[in-house]
Amino acid sequence: MSNNFILFSGAGTRSMKDIIVIANWKMNSTARDANSFFRSFIPRLAEIQGLASKRIVVCPPFTALHACHRAISSTRLQLGAQDMYFEDKGAFTGEISAEMLKESGVKFVLAGHSERRHILGETDETINKKVLAILKNSMVPVLCVGEKLEEREKGLAKKIVGDQLKGCLKGITNDSLPKVIVAYEPVWAIGTGKNATSNEAEEMHSFIRNSLVKMFSKQSGNKVYILYGGSVNRGNAAEFSKMPNINGLLVGGASLDAGHFAEIISLA
Ligand code: PEP
Repeated sequence: MSNNFILFSGAGTRSMKDIIVIANWKMNSTARDANSFFRSFIPRLAEIQGLASKRIVVCPPFTALHACHRAISSTRLQLGAQDMYFEDKGAFTGEISAEMLKESGVKFVLAGHSERRHILGETDETINKKVLAILKNSMVPVLCVGEKLEEREKGLAKKIVGDQLKGCLKGITNDSLPKVIVAYEPVWAIGTGKNATSNEAEEMHSFIRNSLVKMFSKQSGNKVYILYGGSVNRGNAAEFSKMPNINGLLVGGASLDAGHFAEIISLA
């Protein structure tokens, strides 16, 4: 049974109606904070419009994974991690393995978030190893790509994103590509309050879709979910979600507030 069959209805095929909304809590929230978030968030699920076609994933810090897993166990929410090391086990102080994440209930793992690329120096080569390891362990990689402001200003945005896709998706087969989620997150829009316009985002998402089709095949490229992330909030979530190649949202800061996050999901 494919990984996607378990996670997405439709046997590994991106449904044109379904969307995915992922919360990235970054280095915020203790287990206690997470419990209080879910006490407020879970009752709001019933009020979310179109919930049946929305897949919601929460990526807390590692130390809150167990608390979150317990808190969401009887809901339709799914658990994600913000990072993972690519080796199975061994002398890698401070790192976390696929098995540890799976034991904690994790189904999705972010790979190559811009803060890991630009603050912690992760390269496409490392991110590629992570994507392959996440897939090998039957979890869903959420591959983050995006250009810096100076790269956009020099007209290099598509080149940068295209190179990131090529570098990070090396060794992925046509069969496994649809199990990867791609998140376009322009670096200049993350945590800055300065989001891309929905047209700017759609232009890049359509470029990503075409690149995937060229690099792999039309059939598998078209099945990939492409999410937008970068200062998504209650004011702009609906606008992004209307775009044909935006299949969901990756939400940072605004996902820490249960009320705001529930509203964003409703609007998406
Ligand atoms: C993110 O962390 O992936 C993100 C998009 O952050 P924010 O929504 O705060 O810009």
